[in-house]
Amino acid sequence: MRKHIVAGNWKMNNDLAQTETLISELKKQIKTSDAEVMIAPSFTNLWHTFEATRNDDIEVVAQNMHFAENGAYTGEVSASMLKSVGIQTVILGHSERRAYYNETDESLAKKVDAALAHDMRIIFCFGEELADRKAGNEESVVESQIKNALFHLEALTFKNIVLAYEPVWAIGTGETASPEQAQDMHAFIRKTLESKYGNVVADDMTILYGGSVKPANAKEIFGKPDVDGGLIGGAALKAEDFYAIVNAF
Ligand code: PEP
Repeated sequence: MRKHIVAGNWKMNNDLAQTETLISELKKQIKTSDAEVMIAPSFTNLWHTFEATRNDDIEVVAQNMHFAENGAYTGEVSASMLKSVGIQTVILGHSERRAYYNETDESLAKKVDAALAHDMRIIFCFGEELADRKAGNEESVVESQIKNALFHLEALTFKNIVLAYEPVWAIGTGETASPEQAQDMHAFIRKTLESKYGNVVADDMTILYGGSVKPANAKEIFGKPDVDGGLIGGAALKAEDFYAIVNAF
């Protein structure tokens, strides 16, 4: 079933002490909400954050994982390692990982398979670059990112997938896609899914928008019918701002 989700991606921010401070500030802000709330600390802080929020309405998720089960992959973390510290959900395909660590649709397809093999939930990120949008290619870029990484899957597995449309030109730039641009792309994404998997999978798919979402613009973006929540970067590092976004639903 389609859900409302607001997920905070902390990226490479917050050491242990800062993580503890942010968790205690987040706890002061928690209210009953229509949206599922997730936070993604760095690998080193996953276990601590999981333990510290065990009794709260917050799911702790990972920012990345490797596709292999184990082995000679220095610096990497596997699905079973994440699960062993209580993590059920992983963000895959963030544009920073695609840009700085050469993640491709092909390597992401393998990560998707590995996460699903461990019955994990995936927040799968994709989105066009500024040059693609300027050239009017945003739909074809997004369509191929989705098809290449996900269209080998069975329809049933989509219950474990959340999509996150994140136009690269809007991430960390202060420039947000307009609510209309977000809605148009989310409707296109749903249509793309429907063409392969039918309307039940498409209608049930939770599609998040990410890219400079702030308390000031969240309500308008989340008000669009095909936008089911947000993946939040910068604004997730301040408890008050993050919960103002959560409460925009
Ligand atoms: C992100 O990194 O996923 C993101 C959306 O960042 P920001 O909100 O800072 O643009």
